[in-house]
Amino acid sequence: MADCLFCKIVNREIPSEIVYEDERILAFKDINPLAPVHVLIIPKQHTADLNETTAQDEALLGHLLAVAKDLAHTLGIAQTGYRVVTNVGKDGGQVIKHLHFHLLGGQPLGAKLG
Ligand code: AMP
Ligand code: ZN
Repeated sequence: MADCLFCKIVNREIPSEIVYEDERILAFKDINPLAPVHVLIIPKQHTADLNETTAQDEALLGHLLAVAKDLAHTLGIAQTGYRVVTNVGKDGGQVIKHLHFHLLGGQPLGAKLG
């Protein structure tokens, strides 16, 4: 999608610190980290949010979570614990309208994300 920040990151039009990539997914460091480890995991194909996904996206959604788990191991937070969250819409506090999962860890996260 032409005007989408995360599509531009996927297309390397905007730089990011990539920590994982495969044919379907990109993961990169959040530019404004809320924890020592804060990575965003996104599908390369534009989808606005979880609401926009369908049954056809179930494999992709499973893959996104599996990558989150693998990255938690790679980034050294699997044993201490972490949080995976996706914000949806206004009340969810979603700012970027391209589906993304936050992977947060490296410190006690408290009851809320931030
Ligand atoms: P959300 O509020 O769930 O839409 O989260 C959007 C996230 O994207 C925020 O945590 C931002 O810090 C992050 N973000 C915004 N711009 C960039 C960027 N250019 N590179 C990496 N992360 C970004
Ligand atoms: Zn996009």
